Amino acid sequence: MKTLVELETEALGCVACPLASSRTKVVFSAGNPAADLMFVGEAPGRDEDLAGEPFVGRSGQLLDRLLAEELGIDRTLCYIANVVKCRPPANRDPLPLEVATCRHFLESQVALVAPKVIVSLGNFAARTLLDATLGVTALRGKAYPYGTTFVVPTFHPAYALRGGAVIVAEMRADLIRAKRLLV
Ligand code: URA
Repeated sequence: MKTLVELETEALGCVACPLASSRTKVVFSAGNPAADLMFVGEAPGRDEDLAGEPFVGRSGQLLDRLLAEELGIDRTLCYIANVVKCRPPANRDPLPLEVATCRHFLESQVALVAPKVIVSLGNFAARTLLDATLGVTALRGKAYPYGTTFVVPTFHPAYALRGGAVIVAEMRADLIRAKRLLV
């Protein structure tokens, strides 16, 4: 298997799907490749496309705050990636072809980082990882075995920003569920 550095180099030059023509930067990952805790989001937004780093906009700020408050850690102790590495135009959902083309990067990232827990953020990441059709509201509340690790689904922070205190409280509960699996 390739190393993470080799994979990232490959992703940075990837033109395998149409998103390559509209992206500014490929957003491969952030954080620590030896982390026990991994987050998987959907796809880069505008801020991430410009920065080349996942979750740097308002969603990322909420994620950082919840990480600090519930786990007492900052993002440098986690590994953060998205299902799709390039921004879909106008923030639309990634298309099935784009997910299918990009999926091998995420699968290799999970295999190489080998986290103890993966927290999926939002409908899209949960459905992709768990091969599910249900939404995150139905899926969340438990941990799902995933190879040698677990997936703990939670809401996307962008949804929590719109949904207010109840959704944020449920995200906190999900992070605590993930924390219990980290020991
Ligand atoms: N939303 C995502 O799903 N991923 C990011 O990196 C930023 C926003």
